[in-house]
Amino acid sequence: MEHYLDNAATTKPCAEAAAAVMRCVLENYGNPSSLHRKGLEAQHEIDSAREQIAHALGCKPQEILFTSGATESNAIALQGGAAAYGRKRKTIVVSAVEHASVGNTIEALAMQGFVIKKVYPSADGIYRASDFLKEVDNDTFMISMMLVNNENGCRMPVEETFRAVKRHFPEVITHCDAVQGFLKVPFRTRTLEADYISISGHKVNGLKGVGALYVRKGVRIKPLFFGGHQENGIRPGTESVPLIAAFGAAVGKLYPTIEKRCAHVVGLRNLLLQKLQEMEGVLVRDIPGSSPYILNISLLGYRSEIVLHFLEKRQIYISSGSACSKGVSSGVLEAFGAKRDEVDSALRISFCAENTTEDVLALVEGLRIAQNTLVH
Ligand code: PLP
Repeated sequence: MEHYLDNAATTKPCAEAAAAVMRCVLENYGNPSSLHRKGLEAQHEIDSAREQIAHALGCKPQEILFTSGATESNAIALQGGAAAYGRKRKTIVVSAVEHASVGNTIEALAMQGFVIKKVYPSADGIYRASDFLKEVDNDTFMISMMLVNNENGCRMPVEETFRAVKRHFPEVITHCDAVQGFLKVPFRTRTLEADYISISGHKVNGLKGVGALYVRKGVRIKPLFFGGHQENGIRPGTESVPLIAAFGAAVGKLYPTIEKRCAHVVGLRNLLLQKLQEMEGVLVRDIPGSSPYILNISLLGYRSEIVLHFLEKRQIYISSGSACSKGVSSGVLEAFGAKRDEVDSALRISFCAENTTEDVLALVEGLRIAQNTLVH
């Protein structure tokens, strides 16, 4: 039996998403820009997906742009926002623990002459709005903060920070990468105080290769490339109707059950925490107020990759706890105060509503056996 506990990496597409793909591949396969009936059918698929997603975010359908995924949503928000608002003011304030799609875009903007101010958590490993506010000044045109960190589940103080920034510097544009929070941690566009919000299809039981960017009405943004009129010209190119329809179907399914799913996941997480407490040599990063969907731990003394592959043989699938690129850690766990050896042994467990008690117990058993079997 498989135990898939790597849902922050990607989720299994739901049956509704798969059915939407089939429908758009086999029946509604027209080009949405075509003026005949096949075009209208395809356009209708996009319109209803846009409505589903707008409903789940609490915004107007016209405020949603479809993209190829959250990497692109983040790129458009940051680069397109910089092109629209970064002429006179040059500073972007950003958390130091963003996903690479924000972090590396920010590096590219730095190369173009923008000033980047990275904000680290306080010494106690907690992010506070005041840490960000200290960095915002009259040269700031944008602030970007993720909603939930993808490595340790940390719920960032987005609402409080963005509200305070808007109060003191109303002209500053706010961007939130909400990929790991969407349909998991309840939020509305209005309460988030974000001008741009990035979300991804494959993290919410949709398919890979589709995402969306919320752009608040009246807020400007520039395209990264040029073509047709699609997505208001901000994201030109013939739309991937099957992926968009699948995204809409998955969101339509998940949105009404946010609380129920969350309660189930909290139960699984609590069970896991309790079982891990009974074990020796496990460091648990249980950050106060974090998303219940992600838990980062270290099996001290055992390298992440070795444990990951050991568990894989038992059909238990988790991630190494630190997003590594060619063996170099992303630095997120270090930013939260983790030491080198703790980072090297970090593991990320990430849940979905389909996970069961058996999954948790299989994982705990697998970790115990790893401790007894693997060379320390
Ligand atoms: N932002 C966060 C926080 C993520 O976790 C991810 C995916 O891991 C992304 C952005 C990128 O999303 P996508 O795979 O849709 O490009």
